[in-house]
Amino acid sequence: MRIERWYLLGWVWGILLAGALGVAGRAEGADPAAGPTKPGRSTKLGVPAKRPADGKLRIVVFGAHPDDAEIRAGGTAALWAAQGHHVLLVSVTNGDIGHSQVFGPVLADRRKAEAEAAAKTLGTASRILDIHDGELEPTLANRRTLTRVIREWSADIVIGHRPNDYHPDHRYVGVLMQDSAYMVTVPFFCPETPYLTGNPMFLYSHDGFERPNPFRPDIVVAIDEVIDRKVEALVGMESQFVEGGANGPMPKTDAERAERRPQVAQGFRSRCASVANRYRQKLLELYGEDRGKQVRYAEAFEICEYGWRPNRDELRRMFPFFPK
Ligand SMILES: [Zn+2]
Repeated sequence: MRIERWYLLGWVWGILLAGALGVAGRAEGADPAAGPTKPGRSTKLGVPAKRPADGKLRIVVFGAHPDDAEIRAGGTAALWAAQGHHVLLVSVTNGDIGHSQVFGPVLADRRKAEAEAAAKTLGTASRILDIHDGELEPTLANRRTLTRVIREWSADIVIGHRPNDYHPDHRYVGVLMQDSAYMVTVPFFCPETPYLTGNPMFLYSHDGFERPNPFRPDIVVAIDEVIDRKVEALVGMESQFVEGGANGPMPKTDAERAERRPQVAQGFRSRCASVANRYRQKLLELYGEDRGKQVRYAEAFEICEYGWRPNRDELRRMFPFFPK
């Protein structure tokens, strides 16, 4: 009897002590305003990003691989850069399986050097994210990564692939870009990276895929005055175009390699010319009849619904290439 009573008393004291410690623990460790927490989730409020005060535009172009941003927006990037605007070309994967003979860090290093050389030619900055080629997934971690890249650049304009595209890495860049739109402005999301106070304009780069919906050319930019630089930048990415990238074939001789360079250059000129011809009507609208008819080379973009949607005047401020 006596033993049972002490046993019971011990239980009561134990419960009271545990309760008191629990209250003390809660009072010390948690902010009641922070709401429910999960492991790894921050409850700190971020601070707004300070925008550089030089009055210039800030643009991020995402491509899945080191060459995609250059192919799809290299000309427009060069036009912005020539006016002193700040353009960052980002490859979301490191391109480490994009060759028929080499792979891994050796190839990733080579492609990084090619992207940096292309950026120098175009007048832009270049960044390669350390994600394996062919393995990009639309994860929360990658959503955070793209959000941080956009915030760190204080982007006004963000460009990326559409989420319907033949390559899974391209598709998921599109999804991740959509997922980052708006979230770049949310102070409690990635609070360690200052958030943007305005949602940038998000754009899809051009492609020819039709399903579930074809590309819509909201903006078509004449790139005639920078076509030579765009082509030079792309021909310089030899691992991809002169050597055939993931599927080859590699040139067998130096003579064959030398022959391929002008073929690659002509291929890119034709591609930009077909964009101009396909979207001629939009060029006439944006540049006027006379100039619109003369444009030979173009790049096209579609406005994503999830970002800022500028009016006509604001659009001309973002793309200061169209005549008034
Ligand atoms: Zn690609």
